[in-house]
Amino acid sequence: MPFRSGRPYARDALSPGEGIMNETKPILRVQEVTRVYRVDSREVPALRGVTLSIEPGQVVALRGRSGSGKTTLLNCIGGLDRPTSGEVWFEGRNVTHLPEPEWVKLRRHRIGFVFQSHALLPTYSAWENIDLILRLAGVGRRERQQRIEEVLTLMGLTKWMDHRTFELSGGQQQRVAIARAIAPRPSLILADEPTGELDSATGQQILALFRRIADQEGTTILIATHDLAVDAFADEVILLQDGRIVER
Ligand code: ADP
Ligand code: MG
Repeated sequence: MPFRSGRPYARDALSPGEGIMNETKPILRVQEVTRVYRVDSREVPALRGVTLSIEPGQVVALRGRSGSGKTTLLNCIGGLDRPTSGEVWFEGRNVTHLPEPEWVKLRRHRIGFVFQSHALLPTYSAWENIDLILRLAGVGRRERQQRIEEVLTLMGLTKWMDHRTFELSGGQQQRVAIARAIAPRPSLILADEPTGELDSATGQQILALFRRIADQEGTTILIATHDLAVDAFADEVILLQDGRIVER
């Protein structure tokens, strides 16, 4: 298992005693999370008490129609938004009220994001896009080089590594974005509609790659989508409707 060998780069992102994870413990626990937006004087409940837990190495699909609360939930889990009430536990730690600098650290080292539109630097090569993220994570030069080769191979991108990303197809660009997200060896990937801008065949390839990442690197992956195709690649499907889980 060539890709499994790595330890997280950022031991300092963990508190003492949290470095060794018990594999049987959930990596993520969401407890009674609500999120109410205020629009003018109206209250819009986007999440109405969501509770779930996810085991390490699982691919979990978060399915639901547009407006069901998928993005809000992912953002609350990854610290881009804050729950109105309830708790989020990640790697055994209550992260609900972490100060922003701590969240930045978590997102740099432990939680990776993949969005519908990939947000790559268009004039940088695939290699450079990934290199930049590893620099931010404080990874040394030799290790960066090794890891970039590893993730490009895993994503089937070695042929394209020197191409500037604007020259690549939509599917290739999304693969670079995924390679970049997994490069720092995060334990959790949050993917929000990662196939939303792709045709269905390319979308399936992307979903298969998420499956491969979970299997080969042990990464936990949460994919928010309205795409039914995700079911074939997931260990579990969570169905969200009007801010509530209606089926698991
Ligand atoms: P999904 O990702 O499943 O399409 P969202 O999480 O984006 O769902 O949205 C859930 C609900 O919250 C929707 O009713 C949406 O209109 C509302 N909402 C999302 N973001 C905001 C916001 N920033 N301000 C007000 N309402 C919002
Ligand atoms: Mg959304």
